[in-house]
Amino acid sequence: LVVLDGVNKWYGDLHVLQDINLSVREREVVVVIGPSGSGKSTLCRTINRLETIDSGSITLDGQLLPQEGKALANLRAEVGMVFQSFNLFAHKSILENVTLGPIKVRGQGKAEAETRARELLDRVGVGHQADKYPAQLSGGQQQRVAIARALAMNPKVMLFDEPTSALDPEMIKEVLDVMVDLAEGGMTMIVVTHEMGFARTAADRVIFMADGAIAEENDPESFFTNPQSDRAKDFLGKIL
Ligand code: ATP
Ligand code: MG
Repeated sequence: LVVLDGVNKWYGDLHVLQDINLSVREREVVVVIGPSGSGKSTLCRTINRLETIDSGSITLDGQLLPQEGKALANLRAEVGMVFQSFNLFAHKSILENVTLGPIKVRGQGKAEAETRARELLDRVGVGHQADKYPAQLSGGQQQRVAIARALAMNPKVMLFDEPTSALDPEMIKEVLDVMVDLAEGGMTMIVVTHEMGFARTAADRVIFMADGAIAEENDPESFFTNPQSDRAKDFLGKIL
């Protein structure tokens, strides 16, 4: 569904993505882990074209990523993204946060968008908060709204970049539970996270990045119990 072929990117002298080849199948859940600065966020950002690439290609459902304009906006709608900081619109209600994209980008009617938004908010467990504003919600609740907002666009793939790392410990589980539920529902997902429990429960594959390259990839059990490269061993020794 998502195919990166020989992707390279530089920030000046820094070769931040080095010949990345990655193919994510429909319904597959891929967890990306690796040390700080290894290029995980950059990788996510190239997939919905928040960042350009210098060589190689990225296709979504067989289509090359468009460069600009309406085609790019449409593509972004196909790729849901959830960041570490929830990035909700502070001056819009929870319901409006979720309906805005479908109305503006997808051209949905208000009533239809609201019905769907309420379903999604219920699904992530914050349906009763629909009329509140982001600041009135906990971090975990806000992140679940951010997930509902991304889902409202009916994306083909969901990207998560450390969705729980800004949360207090007691809120991490409620967000991970929503993600596990999504994974079990067959959503194609690329998830940057160091949550081993999530990786073990939900991931089909773990990708380990180091210095901008994919240093190792394996099924979660093999990766965590028997990492092959020194970099992976060293990294797991620090986080486990
Ligand atoms: P973390 O675990 O800390 O989130 P990461 O694996 O997500 O790290 P990236 O954010 O992708 O890493 O950054 C990879 C490298 O690229 C880092 O060395 C970073 O300093 C550099 N970098 C990121 N964004 C830019 C930018 N806009 N301009 C220049 N360098 C950048
Ligand atoms: Mg990052």
